[in-house]
Amino acid sequence: MSSYDADRYSRQTRFAPLGAVGQERLVAARIAVVGCGALGSVVAMALARAGVGFLRLIDRDLPERSNLPRQVLFDEADVAAGLPKAVAAAKCLARISSTVTVEPVVTDLTAANAMDLLSGVDVIVDGTDNFEARFLVNEVACRHDIPWVHGGALGAEGRVLAIIPGKTACLRCLIPDPPAPGSLPTCETAGIIGPAALVVGAVEAAEAIKLVVGPHDTAGRMLVCDLWASAWRTVDLSPLAEAGCPTCRSADFPWLDGRLGGRPTPLCGRDAVQVPAVVGSVDLAALAERLATVGAVVANRWIVRADVEDGIQLSVFADGRAIVSGTRDEARARGIVSRYLGA
Ligand SMILES: [Zn+2]
Repeated sequence: MSSYDADRYSRQTRFAPLGAVGQERLVAARIAVVGCGALGSVVAMALARAGVGFLRLIDRDLPERSNLPRQVLFDEADVAAGLPKAVAAAKCLARISSTVTVEPVVTDLTAANAMDLLSGVDVIVDGTDNFEARFLVNEVACRHDIPWVHGGALGAEGRVLAIIPGKTACLRCLIPDPPAPGSLPTCETAGIIGPAALVVGAVEAAEAIKLVVGPHDTAGRMLVCDLWASAWRTVDLSPLAEAGCPTCRSADFPWLDGRLGGRPTPLCGRDAVQVPAVVGSVDLAALAERLATVGAVVANRWIVRADVEDGIQLSVFADGRAIVSGTRDEARARGIVSRYLGA
């Protein structure tokens, strides 16, 4: 007797490399998806549909109208409601599958919470848009021997790499020095087409499924694709794995230790800046009352969002973080946070 609905999953169990044994492993699997934007939406949807038993969705952001061309779990009603992405995604996935347990976590992945959020899962999937979160994931993965899938999409291009600590190259083997903020094109500056995100998210989901079902013999081969040029290739990173790096060879964890990272960050694809929590947790109900005297307010149990100045929206989360929309100027964002939160 199987622990899952055999009829529902009959087409994928008939695929011999997965089979009934693989399906049992998927049902028992715990997977964390970091970031619920373009990539994370696709990954989470594919994994929920595949029958993965537990998904933890970690995201710090709110859906915006400009997300809708590629972020498949959200619609116009979610944007209007001001629901955090992780929560809106969980609601959508619950309609797709009643057997998957989805745990939405509305937070920024930081050195302070990365170990708690990621160490108890079987596989981690990268749905983020920033290097700080990716390096935190890499360090937790290397520290706890958790396989993970790195993915990125920009313009019409994408890349995906499955990483098995101790066996394949890790992210730091591939990128020894993280790029300085603002030095690389982002989906805000270079744009992105929806199909690039769909392809990368789908390949990431396939890699995650292979890691759960096992054995995954092609981990460490990076897919690089360009949909506009119709070019697809894989790059064998085993020479990098042989050399190793301080993180995967010598347990050097600069992001987890707090030696790197932790600054205000412009949010990819948005005219917005995230300002880290300064004062700790916030009484959202009281804040909503205060900000209602300034401008229109949307409030729920996760956030308060207010039109505070001309063209500027301030969203404050219960953990004290704020996102200032309508500017990319970090100093101005900090100023707005201190003006309205008194921080
Ligand atoms: Zn490494």
